[in-house]
Amino acid sequence: MQILHKTNLEALERARMLGSDGVLSLLERKGLVGRGGASSPTAKKWRECRDTPADERFVVCNANEGEPGSFKDKLIIRHNAETLIEGILIAAYIVGAKRCFIYLRGEYDHLRPRLQEQIADVLPRANLEGVSIEIVRGAGAYICDEATALLKSIMGFRGTPMYRPPNPTTEGLWGRPTLVGNVETLTCAAQAVLFDDWDANLRLFSLSGNIKNAGVYEFPLGVKMSSVIDVARPQRKLKAMSFGCFGGIMPVDENMSITPEAVCKGNCKQGNYSIIFIDETNNVVDISYSIAKFYTYESCGKCTPCREGTIRILNLLKKIRSGRGVKDDLQLLRELAMHVQETSLCNLGQTCGNHVLTSLEHFPEDYEAYLARKK
Ligand code: SF4
Repeated sequence: MQILHKTNLEALERARMLGSDGVLSLLERKGLVGRGGASSPTAKKWRECRDTPADERFVVCNANEGEPGSFKDKLIIRHNAETLIEGILIAAYIVGAKRCFIYLRGEYDHLRPRLQEQIADVLPRANLEGVSIEIVRGAGAYICDEATALLKSIMGFRGTPMYRPPNPTTEGLWGRPTLVGNVETLTCAAQAVLFDDWDANLRLFSLSGNIKNAGVYEFPLGVKMSSVIDVARPQRKLKAMSFGCFGGIMPVDENMSITPEAVCKGNCKQGNYSIIFIDETNNVVDISYSIAKFYTYESCGKCTPCREGTIRILNLLKKIRSGRGVKDDLQLLRELAMHVQETSLCNLGQTCGNHVLTSLEHFPEDYEAYLARKK
């Protein structure tokens, strides 16, 4: 991703020259897909929003990044905000929206004053009559990363996911077509319009954990894990890694090519590329426990399997770690995690058992070690 601290709005100019259809076919040709996790083709979503008859449309930038280990959007807002704003304006121009919103994660509020200044600087230069961009501060709920929960929050309701269909692109804010785009996606849209050599294969990776070089790096899809580890510089011998919400906890395979198929065995969406490295001094059950705490805290409580299941998963892990666990608890944990995943309403519940299932599969010895520590 090219860092452009200052935009002269060339991408927007180019979008105007190409026209709405021209931009959509360009994004299609270049293969831009959503970078927030769902990986849906961007042009298809924009077209659907544009072509739904309505008296008003909206564009919403989802800046409520909160997945454990992910901090790439924060970096974009800090260093490439003007390109992001330009991406929002291009989206507004294409779908015909006047009101745009940036839903900013509560914990990123310190980025708001600078972002506000940048909007005030870019907007008048864009010459898009009647178009506004409003920053809405989230209250810190991870679930508002989910598009329908986010829209409810903007409208002043409690942020809980809604059943789909309808999707926000056809029926979103105040029942009108609403384009919800992730920070990285909208920034990439501006860059894809501007640069002929823009590469859809590049992804931002958030690297953290027991490593010396925690940070955000750009790698092509298919990169070897060994190259990522070389950049990360682990402090000790690596044992495992937590690969976003979708991948769960898996052993480190230096020869693995990082593709969605390799990470999720082909049965999930791409997710975003956040890797928490875990070294040999850690017990994977402890990592799984802290992830379970996150899910329990963030479950919005709307559907029973997730509301009740996340707390039971947490309690079982607590029991195992306390040395009071028995062998049957492992099977119960496995069944519970599968059941919650299969029956929950949204992605949070549908992925909350990944860390349990993958850690049980790949690191049974860590669970056995706790079971052996009888109290
Ligand atoms: S899965 Fe969890 S977060 Fe999603 S709607 Fe159900 S209770 Fe809420």
